[in-house]
Amino acid sequence: NIRAEIVAVGTELLLGQIADTNAQWISQRLAAIGINVHHHAVVGDNLQRVEEQFKLSNERSDVIIVTGGLGPTEDDLTREAFQKLSGMEIVEHEPSMKKIKAYFAKQKIDMTPNNRKQARVFADADILDNQTGMAPGMIVPYGDKTWIFLPGVPHEMKRMMANDILPYLQRLLGEDTIIKSVMLRFIGIGESRLEHELQDLIQQQTNPTIAPLAQNEGIATRLTAKAATDEEALKLIERTKQDVLDKVGEHYYGEDEQTLQASVLELLKDQGKSVAAAESLTGGMFIDRLIAIPGASHVCRGGIVCYDTKVKENVLRVPSDLISQYGTVSEPCASVMAANVSSLMDADIGISFTGVAGPGSSEGHPAGTVFITIHEKSGKQQTEKYNFYGDRQTIRKQTVLKGYELLFN
Ligand code: ATP
Ligand code: MG
Repeated sequence: NIRAEIVAVGTELLLGQIADTNAQWISQRLAAIGINVHHHAVVGDNLQRVEEQFKLSNERSDVIIVTGGLGPTEDDLTREAFQKLSGMEIVEHEPSMKKIKAYFAKQKIDMTPNNRKQARVFADADILDNQTGMAPGMIVPYGDKTWIFLPGVPHEMKRMMANDILPYLQRLLGEDTIIKSVMLRFIGIGESRLEHELQDLIQQQTNPTIAPLAQNEGIATRLTAKAATDEEALKLIERTKQDVLDKVGEHYYGEDEQTLQASVLELLKDQGKSVAAAESLTGGMFIDRLIAIPGASHVCRGGIVCYDTKVKENVLRVPSDLISQYGTVSEPCASVMAANVSSLMDADIGISFTGVAGPGSSEGHPAGTVFITIHEKSGKQQTEKYNFYGDRQTIRKQTVLKGYELLFN
């Protein structure tokens, strides 16, 4: 089993000016092909400390992916540091040098001598073309370890990872091993409950592996299968997916990049139902998410942002005596909002959101108190009360997500 490590070089990372999103992105990609990342390291632009870091990484990891410090300036020290550790010879890479010269000629600017530095590569390296920048990437075998050097600029790094490094690592894992993975997405079930339901499967199962992950919208599990062929890997995944769905299938809404909103849209489209929303604290976010999906016009009638009480009364026709009796943060208000928006917009389903986004309380209710009603044309209604926790944006997002969850069930 390969132990991988990611080293980000750059003082701006240590100063907190930027976050190490490179490591995050690379880790996700490695996880998807079944490579375990054991360490993330961040080190500043300091020759001695980069060398110390490299020494440590070389001792504890099999594959070390380094990003940053390959550029032309004085503080780009990655090459020098690895040379100090390995004693490996550095040479000028002719094609890269040509490319750099051509770039400066075309821009009609004088090339400063330090730009030559970007064409310098390790003599033993596999050179990776940089399609969107200057400094090439490198794969460097060193003893029984593999060192991979990539530019720090995220889009340059990502392109090299996708084009060269991931295929290379897949070959390294074993000539005849294909790795496939799928993400199964769930809503309306907590992470610990999901893990509990799948406990036995997770423990028995080694191929595919099953890994629960917390997500922004609901939760997911990743199934990762290894096999000799694509077909076989997919078959393994399909079988385990069935086992998983036998246990928690009622909460399943889609796989991979599928969103809950898209699943709701498909569901309503299949049922031939249209939807309209009356949104108070969500301020249009529910409808915005729906219209973001291509094909929304089949299902989405529209929405009314009725934030102010007067708008609830004058536009949405919520009776003012109802509001003075129960308040706007109430089941009766949510109920009439949903019923009225569905009739005003001639929609099969009306959904309403009213509540307290915070930070303070309102009408005597603490922040996070939310009512959602789903009203169907037949007259059937469901109203739910929630007590969400978090800051204003978190409460608003949770409210929208719940709305989709209720429509999905
Ligand atoms: P260049 O040729 O542009 O100098 P480089 O390989 O020397 O590239 P750096 O100078 O370390 O890379 O970083 C270039 C830019 O890429 C940084 O200013 C930063 O915006 C971004 N960057 C570097 N490292 C990371 C990282 N780990 N995560 C996210 N962004 C990064
Ligand atoms: Mg740089």
